[in-house]
Amino acid sequence: MNKLIALVAAMSAMFSAAAGAQTAAYEVKAREIYARVISFRTAAGQKQTPTMVAYVVEVLKAGGVPEADIATLDEKGERALIVRLPGRKEGRPILFSAHMDVVDARREEWERNPFELIEENGNFYGRGTMDNKAGVVALVSTILRLKAEKMQPERGLVFAFVGDEESGMETTRQIAAHPWVRNAEFAINTDAGGGILDETSGKPLIYLVQGAEKTFATFDVIVTNPGGHSSRPRADNAIYQLVHALEKVEAYRFPVMATDLTRAYLGAVGKAQSGPVGEALRKFAADPTDANAADTLAKSPEFVGTTRTTCVATMLDGGHAENALPQTAKAAVNCRIFPGVAVEAVREALVAAIADPEVKVTVRGTPEASPISEMRPDVMAAITKAVHANYPGVMVTPYLESGGTDGKVYRAVGIPTFASSGLFAKPSEMFAHGLNERLPVAAFYRGLDHVHRLAIDLGGARPGP
Ligand SMILES: [Zn+2]
Repeated sequence: MNKLIALVAAMSAMFSAAAGAQTAAYEVKAREIYARVISFRTAAGQKQTPTMVAYVVEVLKAGGVPEADIATLDEKGERALIVRLPGRKEGRPILFSAHMDVVDARREEWERNPFELIEENGNFYGRGTMDNKAGVVALVSTILRLKAEKMQPERGLVFAFVGDEESGMETTRQIAAHPWVRNAEFAINTDAGGGILDETSGKPLIYLVQGAEKTFATFDVIVTNPGGHSSRPRADNAIYQLVHALEKVEAYRFPVMATDLTRAYLGAVGKAQSGPVGEALRKFAADPTDANAADTLAKSPEFVGTTRTTCVATMLDGGHAENALPQTAKAAVNCRIFPGVAVEAVREALVAAIADPEVKVTVRGTPEASPISEMRPDVMAAITKAVHANYPGVMVTPYLESGGTDGKVYRAVGIPTFASSGLFAKPSEMFAHGLNERLPVAAFYRGLDHVHRLAIDLGGARPGP
């Protein structure tokens, strides 16, 4: 038995040595670019994004991209970049997008320097290795390969490098309005979508394509009162009144909603899941009016967000002295709104649920709503083909994102957006935004291949002028 294990180990070592020897030239180049882009501290306020833009432009020019096909933008100092590859035919281009900025990281809190690419025990470590500099490199690598292989797409391809996805998405809006981008037929975003590996076996379980995002909106629920001395309590009290209002918010359920996309997602996940939740997923996917199934899913933090708008109290603030009656009491209620539902409609629903005209409900800022991108068969087929090239047979399904990416900006201006990174990882390996961010080495190289395949397939690229 021990001999057998040793033999298998020796064989697999030989196999990986052989595989290592076959590292393609484009992979070597991509790793070099990855190391450089990780070294730029492109967090908000660090002002290194323009330096990274200059570096990427230099790499692209050296790879044969003419100056006329490169545009740097942003009046705040070239924080964003667009590159186009003209098609053989006129017509609407396809957009590929990645973001260059990162959430900041502090050297003293990390085990390794976050702004140095370190390869160790099968992983690439560094801030942005997963979110989203692997995507940036996949875009650059795809452009360089298409140029080197003298491939020309049938239709125009545009590659966008966003500078501030993590802090306001101003550059995303500028990119979306740019003449090369604004009439794109659809977009592939590398900043979300990906595969999940089984925690213990490492086997690929499912591949998710992001087709929509929920709207993020926060409401302030505010009660004011004349107040007074706490030794002489009045019948009405701002804190009590706020508590009663919050109890109404707690009890309120937004109506169940479903689209083709969410039904496809819940049905696919239901196939892989056993027990009552699995059964509810399958039933809900088949019939979204199944109230029992919807109730079961409403109790599951993982799935409730895909079946309706959710709102939850997240912050409290009230009173000004321990011996005074409160003059104000305020709570923040954070909502994740189902695509297609207006922010104002959610505010009105909260007002109606609270049913107390003295309680004010106001929205914070101007939340950005974006529509659902229903799955296109051509895009899903191309993504499935690209995924299966590296992970044969794995189930591919769309999903609705509860977080937020550049996709919502593109969708809001009418560019249907599908996020597909090609990256697979175990749930325990997701360190985006957190400490010691990393990406499995194999996932990085397969991610390059994924984007290259999508560009060839969706763009109809073939050799020659
Ligand atoms: Zn990201």
